[in-house]
Amino acid sequence: MSKSDVDVVVVGAGFSGMYLQKRLRDAGFSYRVLEAGGDVGGTWYWNRYPGARCDISTTDYQYTWDPELHEQWSWSEKHAAQPEILRYAQFVANKHDLYSGIDFDVRVNDAHWNDDTKRWSIHTSTGETIVCRHYVMATGCLSVPKEPDIPGADRFRGGVYVTGRWPHEGVDFTGMKVAVIGTGSSGIQSIPHIADQANEVVVFQRTPNYSIPAFNGPPPQYRVDRLKADRAAYHAEARQSTSGVPVNLPTMSALSVPRETAHEMLEKAWQKGELLELGTVFNDVGINRAANDVVAEFLREKVRAVVKDPATAELLSPRKHPYGTKRPCMDTNYFETFNLAHVRLVDLNSSPIRTITETGIDFGDESHDFDAIVYATGFDAMTGAIVGVDITGKDGVTLKKKWEHGPQNYLGLTTVGFPNLFMITGPGSPSVLSNMMVSIEQHVDWITDTLVDMRDGGFDTIEPTPLAEEAWRRHCTDCADITLFQETDSWYMGANVPGKPRVLFPYIGGVGRYRRICDEVRARDYLGFVLEGAGKRQVNDGPVREIQPDVEMVVDMMASLGLPPIESMSPTDARAFSEASSAMRPRGPEVGEIVDGVLPGAGGDLNYRLYRPASPGPHPVVVYFHGGGWVFGSHVSDDPLCRALCSLADVVIVSVDYRHAPESRFPAAADDGYAALTWVADNIAALGGAPGQLAVAGWSAGGNVAAVAAQTARDSGGPTLRGQLLLTPVTDGSRQHRSHDENASGYVLTKSLMEWFWNHYADPADRTNPKASPLLAADLSGLPPTMIVTCQFDPLRDEGDAYAEALAAAGVPVRHLRARGHVHTSITMVDMLPSGVGPRRQMAEALAGFFA
Ligand code: NAP
Repeated sequence: MSKSDVDVVVVGAGFSGMYLQKRLRDAGFSYRVLEAGGDVGGTWYWNRYPGARCDISTTDYQYTWDPELHEQWSWSEKHAAQPEILRYAQFVANKHDLYSGIDFDVRVNDAHWNDDTKRWSIHTSTGETIVCRHYVMATGCLSVPKEPDIPGADRFRGGVYVTGRWPHEGVDFTGMKVAVIGTGSSGIQSIPHIADQANEVVVFQRTPNYSIPAFNGPPPQYRVDRLKADRAAYHAEARQSTSGVPVNLPTMSALSVPRETAHEMLEKAWQKGELLELGTVFNDVGINRAANDVVAEFLREKVRAVVKDPATAELLSPRKHPYGTKRPCMDTNYFETFNLAHVRLVDLNSSPIRTITETGIDFGDESHDFDAIVYATGFDAMTGAIVGVDITGKDGVTLKKKWEHGPQNYLGLTTVGFPNLFMITGPGSPSVLSNMMVSIEQHVDWITDTLVDMRDGGFDTIEPTPLAEEAWRRHCTDCADITLFQETDSWYMGANVPGKPRVLFPYIGGVGRYRRICDEVRARDYLGFVLEGAGKRQVNDGPVREIQPDVEMVVDMMASLGLPPIESMSPTDARAFSEASSAMRPRGPEVGEIVDGVLPGAGGDLNYRLYRPASPGPHPVVVYFHGGGWVFGSHVSDDPLCRALCSLADVVIVSVDYRHAPESRFPAAADDGYAALTWVADNIAALGGAPGQLAVAGWSAGGNVAAVAAQTARDSGGPTLRGQLLLTPVTDGSRQHRSHDENASGYVLTKSLMEWFWNHYADPADRTNPKASPLLAADLSGLPPTMIVTCQFDPLRDEGDAYAEALAAAGVPVRHLRARGHVHTSITMVDMLPSGVGPRRQMAEALAGFFA
């Protein structure tokens, strides 16, 4: 092969391109590495502004693939400055003879896929055409500075500096009047240094940022000790962590401790001077605005403690965006700088820039002359470098066109229509939400291993399927939806560049989860990919993750506990176990009033608990039956869900117990359910309810009791019901539905546990009785309007679906929510799983709608 016809072209010689070169060479591929800069280092080659440092500790921001490097290179500081990181990159490049494989000062102008030859043609700025089988964009996430988007920017005749393209010879601001625009990481790092030299500095701030002191010094001793004790274990932990740095995972809500205690805990984390520490003190900072505000207020207090002028301190205090939804910054003397007499802060919200002039900046009602303007205005992040090159895939479609409405991709690595194109740390991968070194190594390894697999398997091309790509988009969105990220206009959301689609560009599901998914794709014969070679085609289509990410965490956590299956317990032990688990959960929202009482059931008194909204009554009343497979549970066992439904729907919930199996078998529960319903109907006014405004609801076995009670009411001339809400109900004990096998295990409620419930509740002969299996009722017409919620990963899914369909066919108004990615229990886990919020809101809407 000639130099112009190779297996792989790699664009970029930063840490990604360098390691990729090493792997490709070791694997025996021919390759070219093209780099626009004059040296290795990527981001650390370009970002030479004063104060540029890495915010991840040097114990973690370094390669792990060459163990010798740990002995041969030692870092001078906890947070290495740009020159030292660049020297490290050069050291590695020399040690591994990487310079010889890189063409410097070469840009790619365009790249075209030829579907006949199954090869890419790459045209470079030097006029060369390189043909290659595989094309890898190792171009970095923050490598294309955002164009200055301020009127008059091109008129200014003084010095113009962009942090991301800093002059190699440096800049001396001594004696100058300097304007700095932008207060993200780059601005916050450089402003104190510029202020050290300049006569006058005016900082133009649009959004204040959360920043913590870096407390730079030697690398953190506790990390050094752990590395020395077991380097491999440390790296393994980093690779399975959330952000690529080993940190203790929080278990506590920021709202579960008094404010003072929370601040004491945050203070300890703040003192460490590590980027990820503050965000990992509590487990709900990223998902709950009130919890987030505990951290935000702690940091605002820190600003007030440093900045002497209260008005300036307030301007420097972020209030609009939640902590972490813009990249938090680390600084050295940033806030202190605003105490200096020659440094001024201009709030662009009250004094916007009108125009930049030949000699300075006109803002608010002022005109100010400057010798230099520093743009710290950020980057066209994640996709700027990728679509900046004209990449044309199959059928002449450009990537820019394809990504017009969002960067559709599979695993952040590949994209439909662009065979053999790979991205390193692209959109849809953890990338900028992680320690980049860990993510880079993982991507390089995955890509190289894939190329080796393809070569071994005789495949020439690899391309994701549309189904896999769409499923990945959904999974990324599911992950983003449960966080606060989407509330904020950030570069993570593409909001800093006009016209960019608004999506969360990086994958927020965590480095460890992401790695497991990528490994699974390979292990499952390239799930979601089409591979083709001479006369060969392999398609293994399918979505790689459909379960909601927070539900998956709970399911994984429960599996890791290794608990005995409930069906191996006696009913007494199962009840004790269920009560103990319930005691540990969040209690749910406050309601106006809770009243416990007793009502007559079919075989004796039944306990009930009434939840009344805070609003003035009388309210509609919903009689609710708990889950627990007819064997366990009680009138209080679904307390958080009942509170949530009461407060969201503004209705009274009366949660009634019923007799349990095996002591009281079929039809005891059904009879109690109907008895409770009639008693509540008869006493509705005394209970504070509005007469005639009655509905029934239940979850799981309680859904069965509710559905049966509604049928009995219809058939026995019982109370008129305005509606029934059935959450993952049991509707058919007579036969196996497909979901019993599809979701037989691994999703909390198992097929064998369901069998155990049925065995305790009803003889096989009784299970076809509509009082046990409401789906089997001869006539389903005349039942009240119904909402049914079924969950994708629930053994009971299909029987719930079947009931919804049968009711609709019988003319009953049915609202059917198929809760995607949920398991049997997840929607009841109030204040634990954010993905359950939407379904619960819909359930409450349905309840309220019954009475509208
Ligand atoms: P950035 O976070 O996007 O910050 C850009 C700043 O410029 C923001 O304050 C933004 O305000 C402001 N801005 C943009 N356009 C403006 C305009 N037309 N008028 C006025 N203000 C404008 O960019 P960055 O500071 O270069 O950092 C980007 C990312 O690079 C960081 O988040 C981080 O991931 C990485 N980085 C890391 C380090 C490190 O590890 N130490 C250092 C530097 C950068 P708005 O917020 O209102 O848009």
